[in-house]
Amino acid sequence: MVRSMDELEVSGKRVLLRLDLNVPLAGGQVADATRIRAAVPTVRTLAARGAIVVACSHLGRPKGQPDPKYSLAPVAPVLAELAGCPVRFVDAVVGEKAQEAVRQARPGEVVLLENLRFFPGEEANDPAFAAELAKLAEVYVNDAFGAAHRAHASTAAVARLFAAKAAGPLMLAELQALGKVRDNPDRPFVVVAGGAKISGKLETLQALAAKADVLALVGGIANTFLLAKGVSVGKSLVEPGLVELAREILAKAASRGVEVLLPVDVVVAESLEAPQGVTVPVEAVGENQMILDVGPAAVEAIRRHLGAGTVFWNGPAGVFERPPFAAGTLAIAKALGESRAFTVVGGGESVEAVHLAGVAERIAHVSTGGGASLEFLAGAVLPGVAALEG
Ligand code: ADP
Ligand code: MG
Repeated sequence: MVRSMDELEVSGKRVLLRLDLNVPLAGGQVADATRIRAAVPTVRTLAARGAIVVACSHLGRPKGQPDPKYSLAPVAPVLAELAGCPVRFVDAVVGEKAQEAVRQARPGEVVLLENLRFFPGEEANDPAFAAELAKLAEVYVNDAFGAAHRAHASTAAVARLFAAKAAGPLMLAELQALGKVRDNPDRPFVVVAGGAKISGKLETLQALAAKADVLALVGGIANTFLLAKGVSVGKSLVEPGLVELAREILAKAASRGVEVLLPVDVVVAESLEAPQGVTVPVEAVGENQMILDVGPAAVEAIRRHLGAGTVFWNGPAGVFERPPFAAGTLAIAKALGESRAFTVVGGGESVEAVHLAGVAERIAHVSTGGGASLEFLAGAVLPGVAALEG
């Protein structure tokens, strides 16, 4: 079992806190503070409990060497302002400079280390680098669920060096909500799966299809399933190499009595730039047309199943980035918002869609774990979680 940080004695102690502060930067400034804001309650709680918080994160892909473009320095003032406590940035991760900065800090203060990925030892999960990191603290808290599917020094190797260790509140919320979806969903269990491609989420799709009562396929991935059923999809995005596999998934679902919903109507256009689409029955897609959204009848067929039980949604129902093809995705988001089911949404673009629809507050759990969430749902043991247990 992973412990909660509430169970740890942190007063007067140095706490190495692994966060996900991987924020977009523009012109040396934080361009979107969503991830910093998400980390604030964790930082505040530890500071209020008298910990010396040694915060660390990766940012971007600096390839194992210092690169000013990916410095965490711009994050420090934003974190200080949002958390309302002193945050001192130190231009080091390990070694004497980092240790000295931590020695200088008092309980209730935060030291923010430089980008972990400035060192090759981070992504290599190097035990020596992890041992250097571990010197900075006597307690370890990991609240970076989105990085838990990677065995890196700051998520895996370092955790093994601490007896006093725990998951932060963001990590715990993800484990609880996704754990319920994966292991013990209230029935009916409805999975709405969309997005661009099957290939990126095949294991997750298969694992969820094996448990669901209803499987609604939308977005780009539905096209390959339509093709598998012999429906012409014109110039739509398809994965021809996966048609056979799609057929197998459908056959397996049928043998288990899963109700599979494929769009009965779709919005088509000849190009992504088209100022508007045309809604047609799914059997009537022209040779030169692309399916770019699901139609209103398809949405209604899904909505009827969303009232109770558990709903997991991953993957937009259409090219929602373009307004003429956003209606299906936004309608599904709104339907989840109105649902009394235990609703969980995961995936980068799906989460964006939920915010765009203005319903994020009405979803039981909005997972920001990205790839980690999908791997967890597929049944994988996440190295960052396993290291907190062992
Ligand atoms: P998530 O990030 O939520 O897991 P994906 O990354 O799998 O979702 O897919 C998101 C993308 O899928 C969106 O950018 C959207 O434009 C695209 N998409 C959805 N439906 C279609 C479609 N019918 N044709 C082409 N692309 C689509
Ligand atoms: Mg995505």
